[in-house]
Amino acid sequence: MATQVESPIFVLTSWFKGLGQKRIRIVRLISQLTFLFVLNGTFLGLSRIPAPLPVHLPVGSPFVTAWGGFQAMQYVVSRGQFPFLVLGMFFLTGAIFGRMFCGWACPVGFWQDLLSWLPISKTKVGRTDNRGFIFIAWFGIIVSLLVLAISGLDRISGNAITSDARNQMFFDFFDPVGFLFGTLYYALTWENITLDYNFIASLDKVDMGVRLKFILLIAVTLMSMKVPRAYCRWICPTGAILGACSRYSILTVKVDKDAVVENLTSSANACPMGISISEFTTEGIKDTLCTLCGNCIDANPDALSFGIRE
Ligand code: SF4
Ligand code: SF4
Repeated sequence: MATQVESPIFVLTSWFKGLGQKRIRIVRLISQLTFLFVLNGTFLGLSRIPAPLPVHLPVGSPFVTAWGGFQAMQYVVSRGQFPFLVLGMFFLTGAIFGRMFCGWACPVGFWQDLLSWLPISKTKVGRTDNRGFIFIAWFGIIVSLLVLAISGLDRISGNAITSDARNQMFFDFFDPVGFLFGTLYYALTWENITLDYNFIASLDKVDMGVRLKFILLIAVTLMSMKVPRAYCRWICPTGAILGACSRYSILTVKVDKDAVVENLTSSANACPMGISISEFTTEGIKDTLCTLCGNCIDANPDALSFGIRE
């Protein structure tokens, strides 16, 4: 790993200067804000719909209006059923739009984008590690689904099953972002936790699982400040499954055939998912980490554009 050091003033100045050239970034920001409120919109009077979406909506988020993709998958498996509908949703959206929901809609992705804007020097992760650490997400997916499949089979065979969250949403029991998007709200509402100088002491009033999630959240937050979208790259099960379904997505980012490869360095540097320059091709981006965010196009609009994969 190599560290790029930039002063906070330089980063802020560049950010404001570059705003005019970030047309896609601005449209995406509007989209992310809209989805943030729509997907957490019950407090605005929006109804909940029992439909899974290819975004990460931690279980227990108080105002959610839909099911997160992996959360829906866990629930179905925990009932002893095969998640045909959820997998179909992942395949369909992944095949057409790739991971566009990650770039343009998911509130957890948006939260990490906000963290990455903090004027803190970023760490560049080598291509091999960037790809390799995805095993963390797949490990979480396999363990969670195995545990839930066993509990689901018990359920349909009539054995007693407790209503413990681990029997329905195993991954979410440990999911650090669940603390931020759900647990924190309830803990504050029930006054278990106080957001003042007593905060750390008040954690004594919540159970061990909540404290573990809080510690993991701190770790993920710090990591996402240094490595943009670290949770999306390596931990999120929804993103990993969507990525697997989007390898040959119809929509992609393409390099102009007359583009000079050296000029693509600025695009690779602008990529929040750390996609290497070698993955930028005239047929389309080859890396399943691509969220179609468009940052690379903003960085080099003459050489790159959204397009249909060939
Ligand atoms: S990978 Fe990131 S943006 Fe995509 S669903 Fe997961 S948290 Fe959301
Ligand atoms: S390759 Fe481009 S569109 Fe894909 S994630 Fe990176 S910056 Fe975004």
